[in-house]
Amino acid sequence: MVAEQLSIVNDAAPARFAMSVDVEDYFQVWAFSDVIARKNWDGFALRVGETTRACLDLFDRRGTHATFFVLGWVAERDPALVREIVGRGHELASHGYDHAKPTTQTQEEFRDDIGRSKAILEDIAGVGVNGYRAAGFSIDRTTPWAHEMLAEAGYQYSSSSHPIAHDHYGDASAPQTPHRPIAGADFIEAPVATTQMFGRRVSCAGGGWFRATPYAVSEKLISRAARELGGPVIFYFHPWEIDVDQPRIAGASQKSKLRHYLNLKSMPRKLDRLLTRWSWDRVDVALNIGSAS
Ligand SMILES: [Zn+2]
Repeated sequence: MVAEQLSIVNDAAPARFAMSVDVEDYFQVWAFSDVIARKNWDGFALRVGETTRACLDLFDRRGTHATFFVLGWVAERDPALVREIVGRGHELASHGYDHAKPTTQTQEEFRDDIGRSKAILEDIAGVGVNGYRAAGFSIDRTTPWAHEMLAEAGYQYSSSSHPIAHDHYGDASAPQTPHRPIAGADFIEAPVATTQMFGRRVSCAGGGWFRATPYAVSEKLISRAARELGGPVIFYFHPWEIDVDQPRIAGASQKSKLRHYLNLKSMPRKLDRLLTRWSWDRVDVALNIGSAS
């Protein structure tokens, strides 16, 4: 994939700031995948319903609408949550079935995963699902087939690129701005927000970065991204990031624990400041995608 061949989306966006939530539970994150096997997930009591409803309340207080990228696995176990997300005015989108990264899947597995998760969400909610976000922002140069498969499966956009250098994900040479990666097609890849600091490309997109950074610095970086990017600033976080009482995972590495548990307590307050600082909207609205409702 060569950046020059991409069609950059420059349409006047109705929203400059798009908010998103990746709906997965605390035991499903990549940082713990070496100590919690996928087959053991059903042994954990779900907290994601309660924590996602806390996110919905946070948004309601500030009149914010967001996009919720939900795992099919979670949707099957808490269909009422999926309907509540839609009922409270948010966009429902897919985070895949069970958090497998496209970079670890065969093309057949990826096709099954994106079709299955879309069908589960649409059957439960009775609305169309247009958006997809890969686990670990893992659509990159090693998965050149992914965007075409998403378009074939009926998705209109993906927000699966985090164009920075990082040990778990990212490609620092990937475009920072929403673009059309398939020649002649309207399908959009909308990367999460990045900007420049001290000559280096850095993330200001949310999650662990936002928890680790003093709020004032995050606000400065997001302002800079809003000026630089030719498209909306896309922010993300997870429901478990506001869950201070989540059970601690034994056996995880120090680095994983440090990242996962850092500054959970201050997260709701920082998010609330962010919601009052700018006007945030759903990703489909920010990208001007047709059936936004
Ligand atoms: Zn995820």
